[in-house]
Amino acid sequence: MKIAVIGTGYVGLVTGTCLAETGNEVICVDIDKEKVEKMRNGIVPIYEPHLDVLFERNIKANRLKFSTSLDEGLEHADIVFLALPTPEDEDGSADLSYILNVSEEIGKKITSYKVIIDKSTVPVGTSEKVQKTIAKNAICDFDVVSNPEFLREGYAVDDFLKPERIVIGASSEKAQKIMKKLYDPFVRSENPILMMDEKSAELTKYAANSFLATKITFMNEIANYCEKVGANVDHVRVGMGTDSRIGKRFLFPGIGYGGSCFPKDVKALQKSGKDQNYEFKILDAVIEVNNRQKTILLPKMETYFNHQLKGKHFAIWGLAFKPETDDIREAPSIYLMKELLRQGATLSVFDPEAMLNIKKQFGDTLLYADEMYATLEKADALVICTEWSIFRTPDFSKLKNNLKKPVIFDGRNLYSTNDLKQEGFSYLSIGREDVIL
Ligand code: NAD
Repeated sequence: MKIAVIGTGYVGLVTGTCLAETGNEVICVDIDKEKVEKMRNGIVPIYEPHLDVLFERNIKANRLKFSTSLDEGLEHADIVFLALPTPEDEDGSADLSYILNVSEEIGKKITSYKVIIDKSTVPVGTSEKVQKTIAKNAICDFDVVSNPEFLREGYAVDDFLKPERIVIGASSEKAQKIMKKLYDPFVRSENPILMMDEKSAELTKYAANSFLATKITFMNEIANYCEKVGANVDHVRVGMGTDSRIGKRFLFPGIGYGGSCFPKDVKALQKSGKDQNYEFKILDAVIEVNNRQKTILLPKMETYFNHQLKGKHFAIWGLAFKPETDDIREAPSIYLMKELLRQGATLSVFDPEAMLNIKKQFGDTLLYADEMYATLEKADALVICTEWSIFRTPDFSKLKNNLKKPVIFDGRNLYSTNDLKQEGFSYLSIGREDVIL
């Protein structure tokens, strides 16, 4: 099938590449000229495991092309995906201007039937808006479909190729058939393609993300309470997670959720509720608790250093909002680092993939290390913000030799409290006994 993907970011590039992998001819369109030039030169512009192999293979096979021209994309394709940004607007709602501006252009330009598929995360009723916007100018038939994306950055290729389910909101039978044909190769293990109306599909995405953000946040509250009463969140987590009604995933406490999706999607659902005179009280609490959680290590650091963070030097491990990505959007590390800088500390930082993105935002206010141990020299403590695998079993003797004193503030509970006590570290983590030697 002939496909255009408009917007070639984390979602669009993975979508385009994976659809090419199943034999479709795909043009990825983006307004970012530099990005398109890079892709044309065979460079994957984001870090996403396993994407490079598929990217290269499908370019070679002539199934994956790149363009800055919407016209070229529309001329080529019968199926048009919108994978455009829907960032948070000032009032917390989703900014639909990218989607609606492109829809307007599509309406003016299409001359034959197309299925326009919205893959971006959008509030209930957006399909209808897209439909009306295109219809204002369209001279031919078209259908609009809602097809929210559930891929996780860091696992995006796997998630796209082997989805647990595919959600499709489509009222037109013709569009339903096309969507089924398009996605059948991805559900050979009989995971379901769930057909529903457009509004339910749109809401499914917000509901899923808000539920997951709530699960994380609930566990963070339990962790904070563990510290008050001397319980150990590791035990509580396992005790809860082994109940199959609860499940083991998304129960790891830490310094809050971030990323390009959870924060904005929770806020957008909260705002959509308000617009309908419905107060999502749970979401109000989730947002408030998560904001507090992002800097939850700070009071521990202040207490440990007698409220004198000015002049202290810290090593920071992990900057991306989660491991296996270079994405720093809404990363908890950013909030913690800004606060430490504000209090007059200096920071030497390392992340396996997110250094360039952090440099763009923080410039010369940080010291950038080439590798994880290079952050430690003369640091008053190590602070862990992201749970990359390479941080899980470090050489503790190197840590001891390089840090001024062996002190770790761990926002992701990477190590056993007992082990670190034995290694001779002061170790302060989340929801467990703080070891202060
Ligand atoms: P992104 O910012 O990485 O990518 C968006 C791309 O669209 C950029 O490359 C940008 O240059 C391009 N763009 C902007 N305006 C354009 C235009 N007029 N024409 C062509 N290209 C244009 O965003 P993303 O993370 O891929 O997210 C896209 C959507 O998917 C959002 O609604 C997001 O909420 C949703 N989503 C994201 C994820 C994720 O993990 N990132 C997962 C599921 C859903």
